[in-house]
Amino acid sequence: MTSDRILRLGVLHGDGIGPEIVPAAVRVVDAAAAAIGSPAPRWQELPMGHRALQEEGEPLSEATLEVLAGLDGWVLGPHDSASYPPPHRSRLNPSGRIRKHFDLFANVRPARALPGGDPVVPGTDLVIVRENTEGFYADRNTFAGTGEMMPTPDVAIAHGIVTRAGTERIAHEAFRLARTRRRHVTVVHKANVLPLTTGLFRDVVREVGLSYPDVQLDDLHVDAAAARLVRRADEFDVIVTENMFGDVLSDLAGEVAGSLGTASSINCSRSRAMAQAAHGSAPDIAGRDLANPTAVILSTAALLRWLAAHHADAASARTADRVEAAVLRTIATGTSTPDLGGRSGTAAFVEAVVTATREP
Ligand code: ATP
Repeated sequence: MTSDRILRLGVLHGDGIGPEIVPAAVRVVDAAAAAIGSPAPRWQELPMGHRALQEEGEPLSEATLEVLAGLDGWVLGPHDSASYPPPHRSRLNPSGRIRKHFDLFANVRPARALPGGDPVVPGTDLVIVRENTEGFYADRNTFAGTGEMMPTPDVAIAHGIVTRAGTERIAHEAFRLARTRRRHVTVVHKANVLPLTTGLFRDVVREVGLSYPDVQLDDLHVDAAAARLVRRADEFDVIVTENMFGDVLSDLAGEVAGSLGTASSINCSRSRAMAQAAHGSAPDIAGRDLANPTAVILSTAALLRWLAAHHADAASARTADRVEAAVLRTIATGTSTPDLGGRSGTAAFVEAVVTATREP
């Protein structure tokens, strides 16, 4: 890929607030690219969630997966899988299906207190590197079947899986990332209660850490990590952890940094990446012009930056910088959505960010 290559990016709006926030990311990226004379991505909209159920009979079709395989990357909106009719409700949800299908093993979730963003802990600037394919997410940690079963109507069993190979690759992601930051990794586990599974995770991260002597490594039980995040989130740099712990802690970290509405993420393998806000479809505020599109906009910027780094694509990196600067400036100068204490609706906030992309 060269710097004048036009990226082909999939866009899946999804459910709940998805149709309000995902198109905003497309608009802001296009505006930023136009402002600096970079080529805008070519976007391909694809159905996911309730729209896909209506049009294709399932929330994420094989046909969509095939199209995604031919694109450079994707922006995945949120899904409200709890509201899908049976049998789809109990099946692997769309994001789990995409992550598993493309083996997107790393979910990288920054939590950064934004100036003007009303954080609980003002100095928060951490990244949770969440293992995305195994652990205690029983719905996706098996080759076939869901990893959950009900031997009788009154007994339910779920299992967790931790492998050396799965842990090694996520640990390398965490250490490599730490080298670009403050060189401090915390491995979060619960080895006092789950010594075989989360103990293996901790031990393999420690082994991998021997290859990164310039990075400080410490460890915490997940309950202690949660407690520390509430008031001392600024003490963390990179947290590496298994799937379920990472999901829970990243919502907590997002709120501590200001709002879940600013919590961005990318899911990646060595060769593919997908932007996806850390939050869900927020049905409680859907359609009310209340949603904060910051998380999905910053996720899309992170996707551009990931593609830029992997394909020597300087133009996409510049677009990503412009997008991020526009979002940060807009919030810092007092325009924000209610979750950040502001008074702007989603649409007005997006307009302000689009305008900010034109400011050098
Ligand atoms: P999932 O399991 O799919 O991640 P969830 O159960 O964690 O979903 P969310 O949909 O993330 O729940 O919503 C949690 C809370 O955060 C809700 O009260 C919602 O209104 C709020 N929230 C989530 N995203 C946003 C956003 N972008 N802007 C404003 N508020 C949000």
